[in-house]
Amino acid sequence: MSNKTRALVAGAGGFIGHHLVSYLKERGYWVRGVDIKRPEFCETDADDFQLLDLREPHNCWRALSLNGEAFDEVYQLAADMGGMGFIHSAECEIMHNSALINIHMIDAAARANVSRYFFSSSVCVYRDMQPGEPALAEADAVPAEPDNEYGWEKLYAERMAQTYSRHHPIQVRIARFENCYGPEGTWRGGREKAPAAICRKVAQAPDGGTIPVWGDGSAIRNYTYIDDMVDGIYRLTQSDLEGPVNIGGEEYVTVAKLVQTVIDASGKAVEIEYVDGPVGVHSRNFCKDRIHSLGWQAKTSLAEGIARTYGWIAEQVKKTSEDD
Ligand code: NAD
Repeated sequence: MSNKTRALVAGAGGFIGHHLVSYLKERGYWVRGVDIKRPEFCETDADDFQLLDLREPHNCWRALSLNGEAFDEVYQLAADMGGMGFIHSAECEIMHNSALINIHMIDAAARANVSRYFFSSSVCVYRDMQPGEPALAEADAVPAEPDNEYGWEKLYAERMAQTYSRHHPIQVRIARFENCYGPEGTWRGGREKAPAAICRKVAQAPDGGTIPVWGDGSAIRNYTYIDDMVDGIYRLTQSDLEGPVNIGGEEYVTVAKLVQTVIDASGKAVEIEYVDGPVGVHSRNFCKDRIHSLGWQAKTSLAEGIARTYGWIAEQVKKTSEDD
């Protein structure tokens, strides 16, 4: 470990954190992962993995303690989160649990002399938009009108981290992620996000069958593939860009297009039945000039990323139906 860069990944048992650990290991880091649970689908690549509840300040201290040395980089991705179904039902859990994690982690990291601190925020901090509206830039999050409590908590946590960076010698980097998807993410159980839920429904449907989809298919989103996202996180953390930075690709599509892309990847004929359900905002469109200034661009098209994700979820569906 002595001459390696030392990183702590909080939320390393989750989707993005797990992939980020592997990315950092490939770059020669010494990595400690920490989470309230281990990664669900395969073993972590972390050198050390600690099971800790980061809502407790003493656990943030334990996560950061390293034989009297300081971590060079902390990546804070731990959060009580899920897709729209979860976000609209578990409002107290999100506001309470994620706020506690973020309050205690930045305080412990600043006091433990961490050099760089990455915080994973979300484009849920922005107001709703109408289709065709010009892109919103990072500064347009204020005056604030997020559509859900998850977005309000992220805004508070952004400010909390920025406040510490003004009063302590800790460099803070903040990304606002658009929807991220890919293999080894939650695909069932109520916390899965739209791309995973749709892949699961299509994988479970018989050829010629019908799947229910929440809303009317017209909502507009960007879906960013996991490999592009972790690369963006890393580049931003190493950069001098202060203040929040949007990370997401350029491909804005309707939910109907997302569903059709999944159906195409499956090779089956599947009909869509639109049903009532929590959809979230009408439209998204964000300026990516800041992240592009670091030479980052999303490389994976929706069709390519969905083909890989569908393949992985279809395998999980097959395995679990064989186990039942
Ligand atoms: P995830 O749910 O897979 O990972 C979050 C991890 O945090 C989970 O493994 C969970 O166990 C852990 N966690 C929750 N409570 C904890 C606690 N008390 N102590 C320790 N660990 C705890 O989510 P993800 O998709 O990997 O998202 C990572 C981060 O990125 C989150 O902060 C999320 O809000 C943000 N984000 C994600 C997306 C996306 O599309 N996935 C979009 C915008 C922002």
